[in-house]
Amino acid sequence: MRRANRRAALRAWLQAAELDALLVTDLVNIRYLAGFTGSNAALLIDAESDDASRFCTDFRYQIQSETEVPDLPRVIDRPCDVALLRDAAGRVGFESHVVTVEALTGLEQAGPAELVRAPGLVEQLRAVKDPGEIDSLRHACAIADTAFAELVDAGGIRPGRTEYEVALDLDHRMRMLGAEPSFTTILAAGANSAIPHHSPTPVELRVGDLVKADFGATVDGYHSDMTRTVVLGQPADWQRDLHGLVLRAQRAGREACTVGNPAAEVDRAAREIVAAAGHGEHFGHGLGHGIGLVIHEDPFLAASSPAIMEADMCVTVEPGVYLPGRGGVRIEDSGVVRPDGYEILTLTTKELLTL
Ligand code: ZN
Ligand code: ZN
Repeated sequence: MRRANRRAALRAWLQAAELDALLVTDLVNIRYLAGFTGSNAALLIDAESDDASRFCTDFRYQIQSETEVPDLPRVIDRPCDVALLRDAAGRVGFESHVVTVEALTGLEQAGPAELVRAPGLVEQLRAVKDPGEIDSLRHACAIADTAFAELVDAGGIRPGRTEYEVALDLDHRMRMLGAEPSFTTILAAGANSAIPHHSPTPVELRVGDLVKADFGATVDGYHSDMTRTVVLGQPADWQRDLHGLVLRAQRAGREACTVGNPAAEVDRAAREIVAAAGHGEHFGHGLGHGIGLVIHEDPFLAASSPAIMEADMCVTVEPGVYLPGRGGVRIEDSGVVRPDGYEILTLTTKELLTL
């Protein structure tokens, strides 16, 4: 039913764009619209009805697709995109942001349809979540929260352990709670914490280090994302100040996540606090991003983003300030844009933890 509703919503957009159909070839978009989780498929969404739409996969997924895609006419053939276009006519949109130049040549020769570039349509639909998706994200965030609390309580973030060991411990705890990590966990200690997307190394944690952990869990294919930065031992004044600054910026970002506010304004609200403290140049990435079936998806919270915040968008808010050679702090929540403000889904405290 959820997926039928999504296809109905897409259909309204196709009609508005005067398209007779949309050829969907992005596997995440196919999963979103049809429920298929395999590695090869295409989907032709007819602008009038599901009955005239077609799902195609190959022999390997014949049985799996009967269960996963029970409510659309199925074709077993390959290449899937060409097979679906063979009988299509009229103006057919295609996902020009994912189709390669090579594949496009094959599509153009497949049949009589007029191919029309239609980038990002399904991604725009995906940006606003339905209640089932929000439940999955809430569950994913809860698992990440619990794993981190267990790690802290067990003394898992301590001097002498390597970044790699701590990351592995956190990943293991998420898996024991039933969820795969959303992405390669970032665990960065000391000067490494100034590297926004640092990969864990055999470097040992030391007393006095800032330790940044950026991680998430996946539930039903939905990815949570959170970052906390802690200190080992008594924090130095500069560490406390840096953490306080990032926390103020993060709060301003959350408070700006209101329905109708442009994403660029949300980004600005947090960024101007960092800039006013003289650290504008040390905050070189966007404020946040949508989360869902992929870890980074629409809408993006950045100066260049065209997005407007809508109710039930799920986004991260994650300012960071990075001082090369010294250390950095990032604080990141996952949450939902609601009519009365940003609902935080990652509930771990944002006070500076000293371990
Ligand atoms: Zn993150
Ligand atoms: Zn993130």
